[in-house]
Amino acid sequence: MILILGGTAEAHGLAMTLEGKFIVSLAGATRNPSKRDYPTRIGGFGGADGLAGYIACNNITAIIDATHPFAAQISHNADAAAQQTQTPLLRLSRPMWDSTGWRNFASVAEAADAIPSHARVFLTVGRKASVAFQHRSDVWFLTRSIDPAVLLNGVALLQRPPFTMDAEVALMRQHNITHLVTKNAGGPQTRAKIDAATYLKLPIIAIDRPHLPLAETVETIEDALQWIRRQGGQRGSENDDDYHRMRHL
Ligand code: NAP
Repeated sequence: MILILGGTAEAHGLAMTLEGKFIVSLAGATRNPSKRDYPTRIGGFGGADGLAGYIACNNITAIIDATHPFAAQISHNADAAAQQTQTPLLRLSRPMWDSTGWRNFASVAEAADAIPSHARVFLTVGRKASVAFQHRSDVWFLTRSIDPAVLLNGVALLQRPPFTMDAEVALMRQHNITHLVTKNAGGPQTRAKIDAATYLKLPIIAIDRPHLPLAETVETIEDALQWIRRQGGQRGSENDDDYHRMRHL
């Protein structure tokens, strides 16, 4: 059985395409996750050792780490558990956005400190990272997250992607936004805010992706499917049911 570590559009897309035995694992961070028609499990494993135990007990033959590029802990755990159990691991990670001309920072804290006083910021770093902006009472924030985040000075929106560029331009104009602060998450789902800020010539303050352990990595669902098929070939015909019953190949 294949274990897909999820919580992203890529994991969902892969699960919608893959047939055979697989399970998608979600952290349980979102209160009302979108409805899914494929096998899922929800909640942490209990660190790398817990994940290794899960892999051993559930006959996991391959791991696809399709978690968000900023979900570093689970990617470290997946790497350690894969090594511990000698299980093939693939990372499915969308390409970064081209950040030429942006102000790029290694951490959320540095990005928070870089915002000029009295700026009107559109902040799209997610619920957990919003905490790092609490000390900036001299800045007005329009925050957007799926679940309620810490309250900052400004307006909080609860919304789920995708968003259109027209709607993002209108939103930024409505709130007289002067800066966009974002993680360099990459991918098309939340790209519209970047296009909107670029169109409005607003400065973009971006947080770089965290460093992750080296792993074989692909950027598309199609390439992940190819990798899964190759794993099936290497493992022999007894696992063909697990690996070869895929649509759209
Ligand atoms: P994280 O810091 O890397 O992980 C924290 C802990 O949550 C992990 O140690 C693990 O607990 C558990 N966990 C994380 N992902 C899991 C998964 N797919 N299945 C089971 N347990 C998981 O992760 P995070 O930044 O809090 O993100 C949580 C989830 O939200 C991820 O799955 C990610 O794909 C998704 N997400 C994150 C972001 C972001 O900006 N960070 C954005 C969009 C979606 P144990 O150690 O107990 O196993």
